Amino acid sequence: MRKKIVAANWKMNMTQAESARFIESLLLDLGDITDVEVVIVPPFTAIAKVTEALGKAQNIKVGAQNMYWERSGAFTGEISAALLRDLFVHYVVLGHSERRILFGETDEIVNRKVRAAHEATLRPIVCVGETLEQRDRGNVEKILSIQLRGSLKDLSEKELQETVIAYEPVWAIGTGRNATPEQAQEAHTFIRHTLREIADDATAERVRIQYGGSVKPENARELMSQPDIDGALVGGASLDPRSFAEIVKAARAEVA
Ligand code: PEP
Repeated sequence: MRKKIVAANWKMNMTQAESARFIESLLLDLGDITDVEVVIVPPFTAIAKVTEALGKAQNIKVGAQNMYWERSGAFTGEISAALLRDLFVHYVVLGHSERRILFGETDEIVNRKVRAAHEATLRPIVCVGETLEQRDRGNVEKILSIQLRGSLKDLSEKELQETVIAYEPVWAIGTGRNATPEQAQEAHTFIRHTLREIADDATAERVRIQYGGSVKPENARELMSQPDIDGALVGGASLDPRSFAEIVKAARAEVA
């Protein structure tokens, strides 16, 4: 049984004060939730504040939105996995479509980062997903296969099991137009099938696959009721603590 994982990707939003208020409100609503894994992914500048505001609520984990693959050195403006671990960060989102499209990240770059994250015991959330044009051309499986095989190259079975995949169709991100539960389940089935080919059945069964793309309180439960949708990566709706808490509760309802 895979534990559902719901992550809040705040992107380039949230000051320290806003972050502290968000966590205070979330904890009032959810408490230190244990049946669903909750991850808050603030901008780097608010990571320490989020950890401080979480206090003893140690079941809620903190993530980062990016990192560089080198361990240390002359890489002005970059952050290493070790520096993130020093801030008690557990997860790192890698290969988000905004990084792929706006900052030119390739599968090879994503793969270097994924391997460096594992080396530092940081758990990667690896994003994959097709554009609308690729979907319209019937290339969803081809694109997912290329992204998965490239981004997850040379990982051990243990590392794969500790990797979270986020299926995020680019056309659904920030557009208000989510994939239907059937479209998402179809993509997740294919992702799990590809993981079987990359590793083996047992490994593929253990990997959690989140759906991301316009997840809201109104659509979260139906999406997460699908057999291969193991949680959500939430952008816009994660900026409001009440909406985010509703999405976490939708995941919890699927556990119960
Ligand atoms: C995201 O950026 O990962 C995302 C899924 O955004 P949104 O929920 O706003 O579509």
